[in-house]
Amino acid sequence: MKTHCPKGHEYTEENTLVRERGSRECRSCINHRSAEYRKKHPRKIKAAMDRWTRAHPNYFKEKRQQITPAHRSWTNMKQRCTNPKNRKYHLYGARGITVCERWMNSFETFLADMGDRPEGKTLDRFPNNDGNYEPGNCRWATPSEQTANSRPNMKTHCKRGHRLSGQNIRRTAKAGNRRICLACRRDRRRQLREECL
Ligand SMILES: [Zn+2]
Ligand SMILES: [Zn+2]
Repeated sequence: MKTHCPKGHEYTEENTLVRERGSRECRSCINHRSAEYRKKHPRKIKAAMDRWTRAHPNYFKEKRQQITPAHRSWTNMKQRCTNPKNRKYHLYGARGITVCERWMNSFETFLADMGDRPEGKTLDRFPNNDGNYEPGNCRWATPSEQTANSRPNMKTHCKRGHRLSGQNIRRTAKAGNRRICLACRRDRRRQLREECL
């Protein structure tokens, strides 16, 4: 058996198309030929695409409709927990947060357990914010409900080095339960007073 096609491409497994009768074709050559054809006959290609669009007028619309908000949440949840390239992976998968098997393998069961995603809400792990994505620990929640439930800020000192504890902090619901350093606030006020004098 020849190891290379007439143009010199190797018949590796990925590069070989086996026809019904057992003859082999070089995929590199096929791709090259179709690229040439597209370049040479742009009108024919466009006509074929138009024919296809006319035959399937609602194809993309239907595709889009299949992707419901709940489906998007389901996909993103799995990505955050399993794909190290996801930009939120360090907060989820890397911290050991997982998706239960029931939901991992089936959008239908996820939907049956959670229902559709109400507008303005996203998937929240509740009551245990460090727990996994599983029935009994998830709800659809608004951003402010989620902030109230999020991990406490673990910083022990403010930017200027004051201890963030006891009498020195104030929590404000307005700022999403952020802790305010009272020593800094006092300093800022004193400075303002001095500037005014
Ligand atoms: Zn070839
Ligand atoms: Zn401070």
